[in-house]
Amino acid sequence: MHKFDLIVVGGGPGGYPLAALMARKGWKVAVVDKAGEFGGTCLNWGCIPTKALLASAKGLHFLKNAGSFGLEAGQTSFNWQKIQARKDQIVDQLRQGIVKMLEKSGVTIFNGYARLMPDKKVVLADNSEILQADKIVLAVGSIPAAPPVFPRNREIFWTSDQALQAGEIPGSLLVVGGGVIGLELGQVFGEFGSKVTIVEMMPQILPGLDNATARRLLPVFKKAGLEIFTGKKVESLEQDGNRAKAIIDGSERYFDRVLIAVGRKVNHAFMQDTGLKIELENGFIKIDEKFCSSVPGVYAIGDAIKGPMLAHKATYDAMTLAHQWLGEKIKADYSLVPSCVYTYPEISWVGQSEESLKTAGVEFKIGRSLFSANGKALIACEGDGQIKTLLSPDGKLLGAVIWGPEASNLINESTMMAQFNIDSHAFSRMIHPHPTLSEAFMESVENAFGGGVHG
Ligand SMILES: Cc1cc2nc3c(=O)[nH]c(=O)nc-3n(C[C@H](O)[C@H](O)[C@H](O)COP(=O)(O)OP(=O)(O)OC[C@H]3O[C@@H](n4cnc5c(N)ncnc54)[C@H](O)[C@@H]3O)c2cc1C
Repeated sequence: MHKFDLIVVGGGPGGYPLAALMARKGWKVAVVDKAGEFGGTCLNWGCIPTKALLASAKGLHFLKNAGSFGLEAGQTSFNWQKIQARKDQIVDQLRQGIVKMLEKSGVTIFNGYARLMPDKKVVLADNSEILQADKIVLAVGSIPAAPPVFPRNREIFWTSDQALQAGEIPGSLLVVGGGVIGLELGQVFGEFGSKVTIVEMMPQILPGLDNATARRLLPVFKKAGLEIFTGKKVESLEQDGNRAKAIIDGSERYFDRVLIAVGRKVNHAFMQDTGLKIELENGFIKIDEKFCSSVPGVYAIGDAIKGPMLAHKATYDAMTLAHQWLGEKIKADYSLVPSCVYTYPEISWVGQSEESLKTAGVEFKIGRSLFSANGKALIACEGDGQIKTLLSPDGKLLGAVIWGPEASNLINESTMMAQFNIDSHAFSRMIHPHPTLSEAFMESVENAFGGGVHG
């Protein structure tokens, strides 16, 4: 039996930073992950592969629209196998980097399926190793959730895992769920030629995004060629030969492939056949303020616990827990976790929305700026979009929504402003270089109080 100070189960963006940091602080640390899957969902089946495919899709979109720049690109075409190989190469490179970094930090790596046993023991699935530690962290992440009534033939009825590995572009694709994953992957397949239909049962795409922006974006995605239904349900799905038959709002439709993107659920496999009962809360591992589960000495972070299922939130959990162990009196606060959608246009938001502020009866001012008035955006032929900032009467940033070029990068200005309590007066003194997209953010903040030069 190997003894450690800390065993981390799961090498995703929650697990591996925690393991590395604690090992560098002198703890004896082990991390266990299923063979070859360091980097977790994020690196292997999530953030990175989707964005790699989106980058190729955006590249093709650029070529198709090269005329807007006065360029003549001629006939455009693509090689899907090469696009997939490029994506796999990026994932592989990053995965190798994580393994090297863990080794360099002094973490002992175990490849294999881990099961949690009583007495703070972890056993690898093949019973080859038994590990024990003072502290065990479950950073086991999540897996795609598919309603059990939907067919399970993953050749036709994909989850995001199969969509990311698709060998070819289907002629038609039904996407069940108009959330981030559905929209991002829908756009990828749409750009490469699939006829894509997205069905979202909530009244808007991207539930969680503020209503007005979601309403404003619907025609933008429709114009880009996606057929989108909101407030409608895929009532049934069944296999019909090599295709799928769907009933959508009472109508029968046929599709070559279906992507089920209705959410994710915690990966509970670590508890299978162990007799161990870790308390759950709405399917998530229940924890206290110190990330401790119902079993003393067993902790949980990332997608496995409450809060947004995002890679940066998982890493934030890891850092918060590490710093708690190192003696800081802090606790997790998810009020400023930014959300980003990497479609084109990109979308991002952080903090409170107009609706949540109105519901809470909080007084606020709205600042807006349009990318159509921003030099850098127009230069890049990306003048569609806007920045909306929500500020308290004394100029503190309460929330922001951005759609348009580099929204995922620009949102950091708002998070910083809110996190460090910088008021609009102080912020407007910060010199933003010209021409940049960030000037549009500054304008938006200034416009809330009528101070923007172009507002
Ligand atoms: C298609 C898609 C796109 C996404 N895009 C984004 C994005 O752009 N930005 C973003 O922030 N988030 C994105 N996410 C979400 C993000 O991937 C997750 O929030 C994040 O990976 C969670 O990190 P984690 O460390 O908690 O768990 P995971 O990344 O899921 O890692 C858990 C690890 O634990 C391992 N594991 C589980 N059980 C065991 C066991 N019993 N034994 C051994 N190993 C085990 C798994 O193999 C896995 O490697 C995306 C997700 C998907 C599916």
